[in-house]
Amino acid sequence: MEMKYVPTTCPYCGTGCTFNLVVVDGKVTGVAPYQRSPVNEGKLCPKGVYAHEFVNREDRLTTPLIKKDGKFVEASWDEAYDLIAQKLKSYKADEMAVLASARTSNEDNYAIMKFARGVLKTRHIDHCARLCHASTVAGLAATFGSGAMTNSIGDIAQSKCVFIIGSNTFEQHPLIGRRVMQAKKNGAKIIYADPRLTPTGKQADLYMQFRSGSDVAILNGLMQEIIRNGWEDKEFIANRTKDFEALKAVVMKPDYSLENVSKISGIPVDQLKTAAEWIAKSGATAILYSMGITQHTVGVDNVKSVANIQMLCGNLGKPGAGVNALRGQNNVQGACDMGALPVVFTGYQKVIDEAAHKKFSDAWGFPDGICEPKNGYEVTTMMDVLTEKPGELKAMYIMGENPMLSDPDLTHVEHAIKSLEFLVVQDIFLTETAQLADVVLPATCYAEKDGTQTSTERRVQMWRKAQDPPGQAKLDWQILAELSAKMGYAGQFPWQSAEDVFNEIAKVTPSYGGMNYERLRKPEALHWPCPTTEHAGTPILHIGKFSHPDGLGVFFPIEFKYPAEVPDAEYPYIFTTGRTLFHWHTGSMTRRSASLESEVPTGWIEINTEDAHDLGVADGEMVVAKTRRGEIKVPARVTEEIMKGVMFMPFHFAECAANVLTNNALDPIAKIPEFKACAIKIEKIQEA
Ligand code: SF4
Repeated sequence: MEMKYVPTTCPYCGTGCTFNLVVVDGKVTGVAPYQRSPVNEGKLCPKGVYAHEFVNREDRLTTPLIKKDGKFVEASWDEAYDLIAQKLKSYKADEMAVLASARTSNEDNYAIMKFARGVLKTRHIDHCARLCHASTVAGLAATFGSGAMTNSIGDIAQSKCVFIIGSNTFEQHPLIGRRVMQAKKNGAKIIYADPRLTPTGKQADLYMQFRSGSDVAILNGLMQEIIRNGWEDKEFIANRTKDFEALKAVVMKPDYSLENVSKISGIPVDQLKTAAEWIAKSGATAILYSMGITQHTVGVDNVKSVANIQMLCGNLGKPGAGVNALRGQNNVQGACDMGALPVVFTGYQKVIDEAAHKKFSDAWGFPDGICEPKNGYEVTTMMDVLTEKPGELKAMYIMGENPMLSDPDLTHVEHAIKSLEFLVVQDIFLTETAQLADVVLPATCYAEKDGTQTSTERRVQMWRKAQDPPGQAKLDWQILAELSAKMGYAGQFPWQSAEDVFNEIAKVTPSYGGMNYERLRKPEALHWPCPTTEHAGTPILHIGKFSHPDGLGVFFPIEFKYPAEVPDAEYPYIFTTGRTLFHWHTGSMTRRSASLESEVPTGWIEINTEDAHDLGVADGEMVVAKTRRGEIKVPARVTEEIMKGVMFMPFHFAECAANVLTNNALDPIAKIPEFKACAIKIEKIQEA
């Protein structure tokens, strides 16, 4: 028997924990601790512990599939490539759209971005960042000049106060939760704001239960209280920011008195007072947020409000502070960095910027040019265009995404995807989306490839190949390069290895310019920006100056707005969604992990004890959950831990898919849907 350990990075959340894959006779069989990682220091959450279990599942895709007469038939790679090439060449550039993937590597995302813009020449490329942190990218770019988590994970342990709003950190980013506990052990105060008393809330010194969708009112109220008491950091405001007076004019309005904010949010006034004092006076407060802040029609407003309060208190550009936007998927930061967005090339170089467009056009050398220098459609817009403007979009190429479970209003999504003339899906399993494809291409998972991913703290870390892929499955970037060659562009994709792809990325991306595999193989890896090979990387952003050309942070006065859909007589409760400790997003990997699936085998709807009493619903009873988008049957979980009037569902489970219910109303800037607040009703199932 031959056994070896291969260190690699966890394929689930954006924390970026490293572990060893245990390989026996060439097959991945387990996970073992890797003590040298500065991120997780050998510790893992359950998803990491069992991250080997889906790798060798018997239902992995192992050969290309072509749909004939409604059924998939096995095909050779040449047959699949020839069909895809012939079909894609028959469409005009902007009739095609591409979805990249926050689960695959930077190299894979760069390859599909180049394929979209260079081979297909379409401007319509996006990925699931649209569904999670598009509002962070837009909100923090506007306020700080850079749309990413400002501090590092280890740094959170140095905080004097940690304010967590809209993030169930202990279940969604457990190894970041560990740093919060280290801060608490060092004496920091922990404030938690959420409609549910989650495991994160149970560790807090102050728990503020609030109605989904009232974030801006809460943050404005806290800022009013801080200014009223003179606790703002006057020096920081004077030297490092602009437009403070405009902010003050809004947050000091009577609308944002603590009494009013209490009425809107449901948080008692004394709790708001305590929170304001702790946040302002700690000396180093870190704010942690996630999709509770971003997934709203006011997602960008929420993010700007978080930035406002941190600038007000001088909590930026120093250890233990910062705006810590916790990115969801393992490589959602990297997919954004790689330009898998409709408005930018790599490193956020704008597509509409003439110089940037010329730079990529020259660097890539496509003889017939690249996409037009115009912004493309977001994934949410693609779905609307497909249903509302038939014939405008005709073909879609999806790599490693599953919109048939992840996107809001699934009936609408199904209608959109079924209206495509031609759909290619490249994935490791036959997901709900892949089942609708015309061609399915078998790809490799994280355990079968070298490559890099960029975690929430902008740390670029290595994946290392531990075993061969199953059957004929191929590397994602390799599939795209081979398909491009079939379409006449062999010279533009000369790569022989993931390292070749990365070296090209570094050449065209200033923030990755000083990185190479040799440097990234070290356990600490590198945080971007890292512009030169001598540069040590940047664990904390905005020290001394922000990323805007004038170096100043910008205050944005934000008025509170209610969610697009609020409870009424017909749909009297607020509905919100989230994740569980044991599953990951659409469950394509975790639900194929026997250990994780046995912990949490299906979904549920959380109902407050008093609401359940009013409805006559018992714990465990099947109910019908209904919104204006659709209805599902789901077991009730009756609990005092959710706020009265609010209901919650995890969104991982196809058999009771929460996204049948969610609202696809969008933030006007980020085009992110309002997953976190809509109106719902519950009906008992009558016995026949
Ligand atoms: Fe993986 Fe995230 Fe768990 Fe770490 S915290 S083991 S990265 S899922």
